[in-house]
Amino acid sequence: MSTPETHVFQTEVKQLLKLMIHALYSNKEIFLRELVSNASDALDKLRFEAVSDDALTEGEEELFVQIEFDKDARTITITDNGIGMTRDEVIANIGTIANSGTKKFLEKMSGDQAKDSNLIGQFGVGFYASFIVADQVVLITRKAGSAVTEATKWVSQGEGDFTLETVEKAQKGTQIVLHLKTEMDEFLDEHRLKQIVTTYSDHINFPIKMLKSEWDADAKEMKSTGEFEQVNKATALWTQPKSELTDEEYTNFYQTISHDFNVPLAHMHNKVEGTLEYTSLLYIPKQAPFDLYDRDRRYGLKLYVKRVFIMDDAEQLMPTYMRFVRGVIDSADLPLNVSREILQSNKVVDKIRAASVKRVLDQLAKMSSAEDQTDYTTFWDQFGQVLKEGVVEDFANKDKVAKLLRFASTSNESSAEQRVSLAQYVDRMKPEQTAIYFITADTFAAAKGSPHLEMFRKKDIEVLLLSDRIDEWLVSHLTEFEGKTLKSITSADLSEFAADAEKDLTEETKQAREALTDKVKNALADIVSDVKITHRLTDSPACVVSAAGEMSAHMARMMEQMGQAFPKQKPVLELNPEHALVKQLERLDDADKLKEWSLFLLEQAQLAEGDSLAEPAEFIKRMNKLLSQML
Ligand code: ADP
Ligand code: MG
Repeated sequence: MSTPETHVFQTEVKQLLKLMIHALYSNKEIFLRELVSNASDALDKLRFEAVSDDALTEGEEELFVQIEFDKDARTITITDNGIGMTRDEVIANIGTIANSGTKKFLEKMSGDQAKDSNLIGQFGVGFYASFIVADQVVLITRKAGSAVTEATKWVSQGEGDFTLETVEKAQKGTQIVLHLKTEMDEFLDEHRLKQIVTTYSDHINFPIKMLKSEWDADAKEMKSTGEFEQVNKATALWTQPKSELTDEEYTNFYQTISHDFNVPLAHMHNKVEGTLEYTSLLYIPKQAPFDLYDRDRRYGLKLYVKRVFIMDDAEQLMPTYMRFVRGVIDSADLPLNVSREILQSNKVVDKIRAASVKRVLDQLAKMSSAEDQTDYTTFWDQFGQVLKEGVVEDFANKDKVAKLLRFASTSNESSAEQRVSLAQYVDRMKPEQTAIYFITADTFAAAKGSPHLEMFRKKDIEVLLLSDRIDEWLVSHLTEFEGKTLKSITSADLSEFAADAEKDLTEETKQAREALTDKVKNALADIVSDVKITHRLTDSPACVVSAAGEMSAHMARMMEQMGQAFPKQKPVLELNPEHALVKQLERLDDADKLKEWSLFLLEQAQLAEGDSLAEPAEFIKRMNKLLSQML
């Protein structure tokens, strides 16, 4: 025994507590979901560790969660006989140290209570939900395997601080006593508590027990029998046959394991028997988690071995580009003491992963070809950018992934929505068209505003408008679809259009044009690698393209943003001979003037491309000078 020692919460925890107490009022009941989920995690951990050290069970066969309430004392008590915590763990997990989730949760709060209460579980801040209903929380915990006298008591009013005290506790595990606020009487009710358990925690893998009560005719009220009964199903849902499960049960289980309270878009439940024996239950969520692009975040499935929980977020069970998939794999072929390292190079895991990937891709293919596209567009808008990584990451399934891709295109320029598939594009190709044309840019507006599109618009050839960060990378790996080359409309080589553009030209015109390009090339000798007559433009005077074999200007910009240093590439300048400004240039002989005009055309072409100029002030000076000469 010791005297209580007072600790102060870190600022962020304080903020969070305040918020829990005031903001999540309309969803009070989730406190129980979070505490039961923690108890279940603690039981999972104990069962797993007891595999290698059976002394940790301390002779208790059954693992359980118990919920009791006391109307007179106005308390609810949640008890588990799981792994428990040491004093240091109490401080680290629910004490002074705000975990990274706390901060992110605060940033993500939208003010929408229903939404925010759903977020709590995902951010690893569920324990604090106790303070929605309680004005004092007493937690007593003892780590399995430690001395009975080494338990820790944590008490807090959910304001600025908490106290810690070393106490005795006979049973391993954790007991949490919630002293309810005066207005929380609704929870001092057996039916209410049972209903919350079945709503949120029916498929928790352990029995959740409550005291059984019976009608006492003499006292004319319900009286406790003193016996506990199990109030949840406590079955590992995935072990049940598909035919016996309802959509609600699948959804409920999804919500339990994912902490996402949306209804998932699809689930895939498969039992495999043969050389390998395993069950997989996979879900495609409806909404991306807040940290889908967080590099430090571990993603993956829950791994069980013969129904014993092994680990969360086993990233080896899914490739990175399928990190949006949630679910469970239960294998009969892996050892119970399997570690992340072992999973990394394991034949069983490789086979399970390959089969799971196939299931997800098949499901997505089904959704993408369904009459009703609502689900697939929801999926695409949430996870399309992640799926695109698959073209690069998953060589074996590249074609399947390519079929699932969706892009914005000139077929509907008013919308940045990505709805056009490559197959649709190919269907709509002109008879003489040989390639699938695309343009990449930093934004959708920049893509659709590019002067490079002018000729394609005139010829009514569709162009894919790519503006996701990953797109440049995507097209560098996806060079072909069903025998058709994917081709950037800003690439130097668009020779397929040249013959057409040049066929009616007189010898005289050809010579005049050659003289023009030579002249401008001379004027810009150190700045551009070549000057050519364009057949891409109808309205603009000039555009820049990258020399054959060089990376595109957009790619170069992205590399620069990522801090990659490399020598500046000299662009190719293309001139539109039909444009009034270019026609003037043809007649110009003064070397200085010619240089000024040439520079001016080059720089405006670079600007139109989304490039930034090295000396913008010089450009403006030059433009003003040229303009005033015209007045
Ligand atoms: P999360 O469960 O997402 O980690 P919580 O705020 O719900 O976040 O819980 C914080 C941590 O406190 C848990 O990760 C766990 O380490 C510890 N904890 C909470 N409840 C228990 C419990 N009943 N038994 C053991 N540890 C617990
Ligand atoms: Mg939790």
